[in-house]
Amino acid sequence: MTEFQTNEPRLKKCPFCAEMIQEAAIVCRHCGRSLTETETNYQPQKKDNYGLAITSLALGIFSLLAWFLPICGFPISVIGLILGIIGMNSSKRGLAIAGIVMSSIGLLLTVANSAIGAYLGYTGQL
Ligand SMILES: [Zn+2]
Repeated sequence: MTEFQTNEPRLKKCPFCAEMIQEAAIVCRHCGRSLTETETNYQPQKKDNYGLAITSLALGIFSLLAWFLPICGFPISVIGLILGIIGMNSSKRGLAIAGIVMSSIGLLLTVANSAIGAYLGYTGQL
């Protein structure tokens, strides 16, 4: 019977809490998270929609500048709003929210501008 034990047990770093743990460990003894999950479930979560959040912010800013052009401002603000909602799940959540807010304002201005334009056109005051 040979005792398979050395003075230096093989250690690895826990990806969650960065504590040193046994290489063969399935569950981290420091944070209690399953280390087998990392390889299977962690991978799909890498998908990050932060690009959409940034695009939403850019479109939101643009819609605020382009609101006086109803043909331009309407689709831009709507797309900015949709991308912002999708981008909420990303790491750049703040940008997505800013994009949603600005796109909403842009959309309101576009609608108001169209309504005023239509009203003035209808009454012949344009
Ligand atoms: Zn841990």
